[in-house]
Amino acid sequence: MSKRCVRVGLFGWGNVGTGVSRILLERAHLITEKTGFQLELVRIGVRRLPVSRPGISFDPSRVSDHPESILNDPDIDIVVETIGGIEPAKSYILQALQQGKHVVTANKALLAECGEELFAAAYRNGVNIHFEASVAGGIPIIKALREGLPANEIQTIYGIINGTANYILTQMTEHGTEFEDALAMAQELGYAETDPTFDVDGHDTAHKIVLLSSLAFGVPIQLEHIYLEGIRHITPKDIQYARELGFMIKLLAIAKRDAKRVQIRVHPTMIPERSMLANVHDVFNAVCIVGDAVGTTMFYGRGAGQMPTASAVVADLLDAAQLIEGGGPVPPPYGWNGHCNHDIQIESISKSRSRYYLRHIVEDRPGVLAQISGILGAHQISIATVIQKERHSENSVHLVLMTHEADEDSIQTALRQIDGLEMVREDTTLIRVEMIE
Ligand code: NAP
Repeated sequence: MSKRCVRVGLFGWGNVGTGVSRILLERAHLITEKTGFQLELVRIGVRRLPVSRPGISFDPSRVSDHPESILNDPDIDIVVETIGGIEPAKSYILQALQQGKHVVTANKALLAECGEELFAAAYRNGVNIHFEASVAGGIPIIKALREGLPANEIQTIYGIINGTANYILTQMTEHGTEFEDALAMAQELGYAETDPTFDVDGHDTAHKIVLLSSLAFGVPIQLEHIYLEGIRHITPKDIQYARELGFMIKLLAIAKRDAKRVQIRVHPTMIPERSMLANVHDVFNAVCIVGDAVGTTMFYGRGAGQMPTASAVVADLLDAAQLIEGGGPVPPPYGWNGHCNHDIQIESISKSRSRYYLRHIVEDRPGVLAQISGILGAHQISIATVIQKERHSENSVHLVLMTHEADEDSIQTALRQIDGLEMVREDTTLIRVEMIE
């Protein structure tokens, strides 16, 4: 097979960048054998010199702290950005696009915030931005949505797309570990950052569902459209009660559409314990996509980590290499390409309906259940199950209720009244329920 050489500049030699360099340097032969392309790593751009990576042999004279040595090199065809964050990643990408270079990035935060501007700049310059590694690491979920499922109206996406949060909930589920202890374990193992806010408060999940739902529904989704709730308030007791009801608790990204509306939310969710998503444990990710033609599909794998993420970056490099070979600009992806579903409204969570798990901590005396169920009933919320009444402290107990389907608006109004009752000791814990297959 004749080799076609494509030249690559890499920004950021951290976790993911190191994996990318490792694959490009150590597996060049395999990649060429499989694809016919020779991906040559020409230069690595770092913040400051000197930088080396143990076990990676790369000519130090080709590691540079001058971004121009990559951006202005006419021989570099593709720029890979694995710096993360907004700046300077955004400026580097814009400059690379202006120079007619394709870009590969793993940066979901940047695309979720500035996707419209970046994709438009790519199109203007006749090049592409590839971003497979930005969602669910090694799982080829962007490719599945764009190339595997274009015949479908996508109806629903459910995603466990933050490995750290899933690891914490798995520890809490399997060992009854408290949230703070499970978080400390995740930090010890290097799964969670010192500042874990991004993972446990759902921001990282929100960035990723922005990208998936824009691609799926053809609507440019903004972060502020997404209802966001993290997992800090979940306790081992909630997990135990959920299991008694036949459910598991997962931090889920949920995107749903009907003819006129799209709704996107990120929150802890109770899902049937027999569902496939309930059985996604530890740092693993999974995305369930329901299309009107294909039905339910499920994608599972490692959602982060050096080599899984680098695997996705290299797949993108090969897609870009094919574009260079084939020529011609490719329009921006659905959701950013100007052919948007303008009729579709983005709906607030207050308009949703769901079943609800409610855990109240109440005074241990007769009449409490009657008063709470009276308030719920007055808001057309009926109770499906009362599952527990267990001592919380000397004179307070847990009262756990599962409702039938109800309006979000109604439940929030009812909870404000319930939490105002003298006999209610703490704010009610609410967890939404999704009856996933
Ligand atoms: P990381 O380990 O912190 O690596 C980032 C690297 O960029 C660091 O080596 C940093 O150098 C370097 N850098 C900072 N400013 C720079 C500049 N101006 N020029 C060149 N290099 C610069 O982060 P990571 O985990 O590899 O993540 C990189 C990107 O991949 C992020 O967008 C992340 O969201 C995404 N991603 C990561 C994973 C994962 O599993 N880690 C999975 C999917 C997607 P210093 O050390 O000098 O600061």
